[in-house]
Amino acid sequence: MYCSNCGKPLPDGSRACPYCGAPSGGFAPFTAYQPNITEDNIPDEWKPISMWGYFGYEILFSIPLIGLILLIVFSVGGTKNRNLRNFARSYFCFLIVAIIVIAIILAVTSTSTFFTDILRA
Ligand SMILES: [Zn+2]
Repeated sequence: MYCSNCGKPLPDGSRACPYCGAPSGGFAPFTAYQPNITEDNIPDEWKPISMWGYFGYEILFSIPLIGLILLIVFSVGGTKNRNLRNFARSYFCFLIVAIIVIAIILAVTSTSTFFTDILRA
């Protein structure tokens, strides 16, 4: 008799395979159960976004005002797709960081005479 799970020979009278632990009753152990997951049967909530999908959303989010509104709507749960929601949130955080960095650069360059005046004094 051979194991129905791994195919290795089973000792006579054994109730489970000594190699993989599968019961020798001829049925697969529940640990071997793997649902057949394909892109087609993933629930909408978990559907992956393709590379061009992300690219499209990036362009969409960079439209002035409309992009920002969509970004906030998707971030707070306006979509049931978690990948899109997480992407919108990360894009929103990135936008905030970019605005802060630009603000710092503008502040430093506009007050550069202030610093040179201090150094000259
Ligand atoms: Zn086995």
